Amino acid sequence: MRIMVQKFGGTSLSTVQAREHVLRHIKRELEAGLSLVVVVSAMGRRGEPYATDTLLDWTAQNGNAISARERDLLLCCGEIISATTLSSLLEHEGISTTVLTGAQAGFVTDDNFGNARILDVRPVRVLEQLEQGRVVIVTGFQGQTENGDFTTLGRGGSDTSATALGAALRAEMVDIYTDVNGILTADPRIVEDARPLTVVSYAEICNMAHHGAKVIHPRAVEIAMQAQIPVRVRSTFADSEGTLVTHPEGFQDVQTGIIDRYVTGIAYVSNVTQIAVEVPGGADRLQLKVFKTMAENSISVDFINVTPSGVVYTVFDSDSEKAIQVLQEIGLKPQSLSGCAKVSVIGGGINGVPGIMARIVESLTLADIQILQSADSNTTIWVLVKKEDMVQALRALHASFELHL
Ligand code: ADP
Ligand code: MG
Repeated sequence: MRIMVQKFGGTSLSTVQAREHVLRHIKRELEAGLSLVVVVSAMGRRGEPYATDTLLDWTAQNGNAISARERDLLLCCGEIISATTLSSLLEHEGISTTVLTGAQAGFVTDDNFGNARILDVRPVRVLEQLEQGRVVIVTGFQGQTENGDFTTLGRGGSDTSATALGAALRAEMVDIYTDVNGILTADPRIVEDARPLTVVSYAEICNMAHHGAKVIHPRAVEIAMQAQIPVRVRSTFADSEGTLVTHPEGFQDVQTGIIDRYVTGIAYVSNVTQIAVEVPGGADRLQLKVFKTMAENSISVDFINVTPSGVVYTVFDSDSEKAIQVLQEIGLKPQSLSGCAKVSVIGGGINGVPGIMARIVESLTLADIQILQSADSNTTIWVLVKKEDMVQALRALHASFELHL
């Protein structure tokens, strides 16, 4: 059996026309002789009747006192509606289908409701149904604890469902269908001339996703990478093959030949606050105190620069008030700047190439953008800018590295 997993995101299922495209992709792969597992997200975006965010808004309207376990039960409805809708459309065309919930498809998770971790995937029933020649439609984003409680996998969870099933079934390919033409050099909503990449390595896209490129969830990529299952990110609304995600040795398979680039793309995370704690002359174990306090209060920190006299780091804007309060409680005087954005230039080839940082500083300076902080690793250079400068910074860097070409 040649198994393929297809995953369709919210906008790919939200309208009659979009669902016609979905049927087209399913029929094409069936005709090519593949056994199909179709993972679906809830239909549409916030405001549309059965979208995940609409369900969350619904709980907010009712006082938001719902417990995490019960909220997950509610959220699971979105994907169930989506999966059964698709099933009826396919049956209408004479294609036999079976809908399985996350639990029925074999997803076993821990009980961290709202952001559960997959412990195991036992796709016994998926295989049974595939062997009977049926298209198996699986509700994405969800699983079940060993006790039988419904859980959800957190944002982007359907991507994770798709690659985890792909890994468990040893699928030939996992196709992630979405509303853009693959993985682009930047978010096309911000950088209009962003260009689709033909092929990227698991590491490159994982890195981009971790730095804010929300086109695929990093956890999903990590699972595919471990299992060495190729993934394609492609558009529901077109016929192009989109972006192939594979290991670097797989690059030669693609017709464009060997890829030699040092910058892959540009990503961003907005709504972060810069916090600086300075102690003139340095203080005993200041750094340790700061980070221990953040950890004890479950505040996640990023972009950390440590100097002998203090520390600078970022937290999400939503955590900043608490972060400042707990620092003050231990006698420190933090300075903070909210409304910042972290802009990342990502590429496996950045390491050791002279002049990259100079180019970043030059293009931001020419655009009159102040760099509040910077850092680098083998594969990424980050700069922190004010949020109002973010769009211009992304466009300037995209142009400077000629990513549109
Ligand atoms: P889905 O509902 O199909 O899962 P998402 O909204 O999660 O769709 O992901 C697709 C969106 O990701 C695109 O509409 C695009 O705005 C955004 N995006 C951000 N960065 C990138 C990038 N580098 N390449 C492509 N899309 C990106
Ligand atoms: Mg998504």
